[in-house]
Amino acid sequence: MSVNQSAPPVPPFGQNQPVYPGYHPASYGGQPGPAVPASPYGAYNGPVPGYQQTPPQGVPRAPPSSGAPPASMQAPCGQTTYGQFGQGDIQNGPSSTAQMQRLQGSQQFGPPLAPVVSQPAVLQPYGPPPTSTQVTAQLAGMQISGAVSHAPPSSVLGYGPPTSLASASGSFPNSGPYGSYPQSQAPPLSQAQGHPGVQPPLRSAPPLASSFTSPASGGPRMPSMTGPLPPGQGFGSLPVSQPNHVSSTPSHALPPGTQMTGPPGTQMTGPPVPPPSMHSPQQAGYQLQQNGSFGPARGPQPNYESPYPGAPTFGSQPGPPQPLPPKRLDPDAIPSPQLNELPPQQRARHRIDPDAIPSPIQVIEDDRNNRGSEPFVTGVRGQVPPLVTTNFLVKDQGNASPRYIRCTSYNIPCTSDMAKQAQVPLAAVIKPLARLPPEEASPYVVDHGEAGPLRCNRCKAYMCPLMTFIEGGRRFQCSFCSCVNDVPPQYFQHLDHTGKRVDAYDRPELSLGSYEFLATVDYCKNNKFPSPPAFIFMIDVSYNAIRTGLVRLLCEELKSLLDYLPREGGAEESAIRVGFVTYNKVLHFYNVKSSLAQPQMMVVSDVADMFVPLLDGFLVNVRESRAVITSLLDKIPEMFADTRETETVFAPVIQAGMEALKAAECAGKLFLFHTSLPIAEAPGKLKNRDDRKLINTDKEKTLFQPQTGTYQTLAKDCVAQGCCVDLFLFPNQYVDVATLSVVPQLTGGSVYKYACFQVENDQERFLSDLRRDVQKVVGFDAVMRVRTSTGIRAVDFFGAFYMSNTTDVELAGLDEDKTVAVEFKHDDRLSEESGALLQCALLYTSCAGQRRLRIHNLALNCCTQLADLYRNCETDTLINYMAKFAYRGVVNSPVKTVRDTLITQCAQILACYRKNCASPSSAGQLILPECMKLLPVYLNCVLKSDVLQPGAEVTTDDRAYVRQLVSSMDVAETNVFFYPRLLPLTKSPIDSTSEPPAVRASEERLSSGDIYLLENGLNLFVWVGASVQQGVVQSLFNVSSFSQITSGLSVLPVLDNPLSRKVRGLIDSLRAQRMRYMKLIVVKQEDKLEMLFKHFLVEDKSLSGGASYVDFLCHMHKEIRQLLS
Ligand SMILES: [Zn+2]
Repeated sequence: MSVNQSAPPVPPFGQNQPVYPGYHPASYGGQPGPAVPASPYGAYNGPVPGYQQTPPQGVPRAPPSSGAPPASMQAPCGQTTYGQFGQGDIQNGPSSTAQMQRLQGSQQFGPPLAPVVSQPAVLQPYGPPPTSTQVTAQLAGMQISGAVSHAPPSSVLGYGPPTSLASASGSFPNSGPYGSYPQSQAPPLSQAQGHPGVQPPLRSAPPLASSFTSPASGGPRMPSMTGPLPPGQGFGSLPVSQPNHVSSTPSHALPPGTQMTGPPGTQMTGPPVPPPSMHSPQQAGYQLQQNGSFGPARGPQPNYESPYPGAPTFGSQPGPPQPLPPKRLDPDAIPSPQLNELPPQQRARHRIDPDAIPSPIQVIEDDRNNRGSEPFVTGVRGQVPPLVTTNFLVKDQGNASPRYIRCTSYNIPCTSDMAKQAQVPLAAVIKPLARLPPEEASPYVVDHGEAGPLRCNRCKAYMCPLMTFIEGGRRFQCSFCSCVNDVPPQYFQHLDHTGKRVDAYDRPELSLGSYEFLATVDYCKNNKFPSPPAFIFMIDVSYNAIRTGLVRLLCEELKSLLDYLPREGGAEESAIRVGFVTYNKVLHFYNVKSSLAQPQMMVVSDVADMFVPLLDGFLVNVRESRAVITSLLDKIPEMFADTRETETVFAPVIQAGMEALKAAECAGKLFLFHTSLPIAEAPGKLKNRDDRKLINTDKEKTLFQPQTGTYQTLAKDCVAQGCCVDLFLFPNQYVDVATLSVVPQLTGGSVYKYACFQVENDQERFLSDLRRDVQKVVGFDAVMRVRTSTGIRAVDFFGAFYMSNTTDVELAGLDEDKTVAVEFKHDDRLSEESGALLQCALLYTSCAGQRRLRIHNLALNCCTQLADLYRNCETDTLINYMAKFAYRGVVNSPVKTVRDTLITQCAQILACYRKNCASPSSAGQLILPECMKLLPVYLNCVLKSDVLQPGAEVTTDDRAYVRQLVSSMDVAETNVFFYPRLLPLTKSPIDSTSEPPAVRASEERLSSGDIYLLENGLNLFVWVGASVQQGVVQSLFNVSSFSQITSGLSVLPVLDNPLSRKVRGLIDSLRAQRMRYMKLIVVKQEDKLEMLFKHFLVEDKSLSGGASYVDFLCHMHKEIRQLLS
């Protein structure tokens, strides 16, 4: 076999890499796969089928470019934030109630799970505790220490290691944080009273912007505290174990005597309503705290001055202006009734130092620094990959790249009892057709000839590096079901002394985690090889579509875009045929046969019984019919220029497209461009049933349910035909996205929404999304199956697809952006030796009509100690899964129930860790596993997201839209979507080419002298501080002062200076990284539009009632303590 890859150790497979659009052939040779037990035997060897070159799909071409949007735009259309959203995919499949419920069954909505009670009180039953971040919270207040318990890793705590915060006495009212949960009631368990043993309410009270002074407080800090602030708060991270907190040795740490004084005005963000009981336990709490050990000092934090030169800031506490009397009691120590009588400011005085709680920015930075330089080699089972925010290369040595599969944990419990105890969802987020960076090879295509891919006879798993060859190579044992299978003569090969086949590295299926097989006719519908797919463009030509200029813009764009349809391999032209339909209340089909001089229109007005009036000439080859197509696209805007028709139909349009594909006996995709609620008399007719009064009621779920079953039925027919539907919506008002997106959702399609579309404001975004959507790699008529080794089983699926049984994920279409999340449950005991294996097989038709199987394999470790589970978790994936789970749940359960379920589950996960894995420590400490220290902050972002806790400006359509969008997001997308990136633009040197370091998404991180950029994958803002230097304003906006900057601007002027080039370059680069085009909105400090922007400062309390990060952390701590008590 020839090799055309340059790579390493192993000889490459004799085939060229498939070229995917935009990719260079990758360079990588096969790498050694997992070792296979040996057993030397003689053999006969059959001919080894060569691997066939995979025809790539599509060709790399630059997208056509069309005119750029005008440079000055006004504020976004009334719809606010989501106006900017690009596309979406629908959430978990079918919203069919039946399915939803089935799915739901696996998790607990409804009554919160029972607390983990069964744990023995003994801490640390298992080996050395995994690294953990400890957060000590006194009562409601808390202090946090990032501590590393024995073991760990270099674990740099995200926020610096040990921090000791002094806290003030503040009262964190129990209810405080929760005040923020609007309708939520206080968690039942959370009464402070109930937990006498609990610690004192310490809180650090970093005032906004105040600097810390560090007075001296010695070991026993308590006494020295000034009113509000307790001295040595437990913020330090205890590197060692919790016991340190209790011990009297203030070892590491803050300079002795560090004392925090709180500025009088320190405020708490939460509603200051301290529960009485919270305060009483204080004393005890203090004791602990005083002796608390402070971990290593954290690095200086932005915005806080360091008290001592070189000294870490944390230890310091904000000092009150006046000298404090020694020994003054903390106000919190006062009996609760009195406390409650205190003015709110005093009660609210204590505030946790935001710098002392786990920082997403720090965790991301640390991972980049620690793991960004080395390639991630997949040869070892159960390795946790670098974070999605880290740039790294992947070398496939037998397990699928994390670009294809990411798991919530790479080490799963051996038994279901352990899994239930931990409550950590065991799930994989799979992106089967993920686009790889140019440096990484696309999967090889293996051709086993007429025999087809070699599979296990019993479980049907495909040949992979996990299979074990025995008896000299004459048989292989399936690693999934243990069945011993004969090796067919033509596939026989000798084994080497280690038991590995000598040709292992020549065969992708024996050495790589991901590869493809050419499918035989047995894998085709009706035992017939498929025809190439078709694209049908279906354009709304009603009054609204014409008036906004959409139709003209679209037709103009299609003339050039049709040259860029996906192509396979080195094909000169795309095999995809195209067809055109326009519609309002009736449908117009066009005959664009190449032999015609002019296109012909055929009108179908009987929308109740849709049929396709022509076959010949409807689906054509673009090159052959070029002239006729161009003529048609020129004529469409003219033909309907004077239309007065405002009503549209919708279901009949999809029906027509699907019937056309059926008649042509091919799969394909419909691109629908639609503007309004389909109220014309026809199947699938809808009425406006939007009702915001339903929000926060038990009927809120109906807003997410389709208003008619017509679309589910239609979707099912589409799936059977391999008809995928991509929907581009241009609504001026409510269009019932929840119902219109049913078909795209169930067919693996996408939904894009451009509210209040105006050509001058939105064309760049729309055209950019359209080009990407039309050109991207897509497979059709697909079925995905996830097999697992004995002991676990895939039980639940999330994403845009249809399921007619419990195991096969059916996708009329599947593109490179779509992910399917899969949850696993135990059905037997797993063993540490064999681990747990996953094999995802996707059968699909390529864009050239080739039938293929893409296989991804992944081996995970199994553990008998919970600590191993917690040490190998990936929070980003966990959040991706939990968000999808919650978003699906809102169709069947009240939103509040869904939120409570998430909170309960998170508390159980963390309580289980605390109980079983962390070193013993006082109850007042919040201890987070190192790998999950961001779980609370990220979960809070999910809880306060627009689907689960909408603000007044969020429309019902926005919520339905985001809901379906998130259902197909990959881990990187959900990461930035829920926790946006906030980049200071003017702080780093102007000539620096790297992206500026991000800051935390909180208003207090913004300085009015700077300009920031914020993005979440769908939205993009430039925020301008009110006191930015005039020169900067001039360089960026070409106006002389802040007041002259146009608020709501959506394009930065193109100016020839370093700052302007740098910022515009950064915006371009961010847009290039995202699936959808992010429209820019310039927001000025203190301007009205700033509210839009603030919505994305997710660490702050939100207008809709979402808790701040600090408040939520306190709440979570309380929940955990309830579970542990
Ligand atoms: Zn098997």
